[in-house]
Amino acid sequence: MGAMEWSGGLAERPGRGRRVLVVGGGIAGLGAAQRLRAHPAFSQLRVLEATARAGGRIRSERGFGGVLELGAHWIHGPSRGNPVFELAAEHRLLREKDLSEENQRMETGGHVGLPSVTYASSGVSVSRELVVETASLFHSLIDQAREFVRGAAAPAPSVGEYVRGALRALAAGWTDREDARRLRLALMHNFLNVECCVSGTHSMDLVALAPFGEYTVLPGLDCTFPGGYQGLTNHIMASLPEDMIIFNKPVKTIHWNGSFQEAASPGETFPVLVECEDGGCFPAHHVIVTVPLGFLKEHVDTFFEPPLPTEKADAIRKLGFGTNNKIFLEFEEPFWEPGCQHIQVVWEDMSPLEDVASQLQDVWFKKLIGFWVLPSFESVHVLCGFIAGLESEFMETLTDEEVLLSLTQVLRRVTGNARLPAPRSVLRSRWHSAPYTRGSYSYVAVGSTGEDIDRLARPLPEDGTEAQALWTPVLRGRCASSSCVHLRENLRLQILFAGEATHRMFYSTTHGALLSGWREADRLIALQDPQAQLPGPQL
Ligand SMILES: Cc1cc2nc3c(=O)[nH]c(=O)nc-3n(C[C@H](O)[C@H](O)[C@H](O)COP(=O)(O)OP(=O)(O)OC[C@H]3O[C@@H](n4cnc5c(N)ncnc54)[C@H](O)[C@@H]3O)c2cc1C
Repeated sequence: MGAMEWSGGLAERPGRGRRVLVVGGGIAGLGAAQRLRAHPAFSQLRVLEATARAGGRIRSERGFGGVLELGAHWIHGPSRGNPVFELAAEHRLLREKDLSEENQRMETGGHVGLPSVTYASSGVSVSRELVVETASLFHSLIDQAREFVRGAAAPAPSVGEYVRGALRALAAGWTDREDARRLRLALMHNFLNVECCVSGTHSMDLVALAPFGEYTVLPGLDCTFPGGYQGLTNHIMASLPEDMIIFNKPVKTIHWNGSFQEAASPGETFPVLVECEDGGCFPAHHVIVTVPLGFLKEHVDTFFEPPLPTEKADAIRKLGFGTNNKIFLEFEEPFWEPGCQHIQVVWEDMSPLEDVASQLQDVWFKKLIGFWVLPSFESVHVLCGFIAGLESEFMETLTDEEVLLSLTQVLRRVTGNARLPAPRSVLRSRWHSAPYTRGSYSYVAVGSTGEDIDRLARPLPEDGTEAQALWTPVLRGRCASSSCVHLRENLRLQILFAGEATHRMFYSTTHGALLSGWREADRLIALQDPQAQLPGPQL
């Protein structure tokens, strides 16, 4: 193992407090660090971030004359009680209308709003009436799918199978002409693809039905950050000392249940040692791991030494983590009507009731659900497309030119305008290829339950059962001497887990991630200071 890196010119507050390392500088890690820093017991605190920037999946970039959100886009459920909304409001990062009581009271049921216009692959626009009717049917099926959490036996393993089963029964009663029926089913197929983007999955057939309703929708009409989502993480960063976060420091292995020492702290032992890719090592009392579930899945066998208990490793393997990407297109002139906010694209040869086997390179673009028109760009006109699943991962392997060409063809076809000018340029996210993310966000997959989220979130060692034999008598409290008591305290909560995938009600969101970071910081504070008054909110 390489050099011990804890000190080295970093301005520490005086006194020997608990040493805490936070792995990952996304909103969960930054939130945990901010909370711990406010407590005197945690004067020795570092955040190790693998990349050159903070924010993780909150990533706003300047481009095309405005701000492009490559990661998180909306505050889901922006209302009092949502900590992301509250922080954003406090720092004046939101528009007046998004702060209004009326906006906060809106109940959307978590459904994506209706498109302004729907284009079909034959080059016609679909009647508003049909879109509204089909959307309302689809949303009622999704609402029903959420009800099985209340205890009724789920009639299918997945949300996709449940929706398709209900749809098949309904479609048997439809008396439309064949082309109208096809269009209805094609719309349904698009709505299922929208739901894949929402859940960050390849197919709703992968999303478990019984726990689907555990995900909790907060009131409020989703809103965006006019200056960029990253304004939020920048504010948290600004409250931390500059040298607290160490960039370009990917962690390779977390050694725990050990007894590590360093020359700079003679006589002190640490149960954890964090080893970085560059060979640097950080001994610590506690580590808060906030790396994405996609990274954990890929490295579960090597990231922890000794390996994780089977139950936790299984939870990591079973929970779902899929891809949702954005494709931004910049146009010289808009081809859409003024006031248009959302363009839906429907493929009439696609149906949720039929499986069509095709090569990804021939059909990947059919998974794209459509485009959102980005507001507040001055002289340019920008659309943001969303695409989930394996098609999205395939898109990441293409060049910008290939993506631009395919989407130009799609737009010409669906608008029926073969001369539609090609976009000037394209920019996209590639979350599946990102080595420290490996996808977009988590979901409860078929074969897992919400209990797996709790298993992932549980710290190690919790009650001593995971401690190596050497420490067992100490952890189980059989020894009452003051040095044993000290040692016992020293060994608890070595590894804590935060990040969006560890929040049972709000997984996949920024507020779930932030709350999880606060939860783990509070857990450590409560260990040190059982009398501490912990701030809310505790959603
Ligand atoms: C395309 C997209 C759209 C989204 N849209 C929304 C939305 O509209 N609303 C919403 O609420 N949420 C949205 N989300 C989800 C939201 O962005 C995440 O839930 C949230 O940002 C996750 O925060 P986190 O701190 O848990 O993880 P992250 O932000 O991923 O932070 C983890 C950090 O760990 C670092 N890391 C990984 N491995 C290592 C290692 N070995 N060593 C050191 N550091 C490491 C990573 O580089 C990263 O910075 C979206 C996500 C994506 C990808």
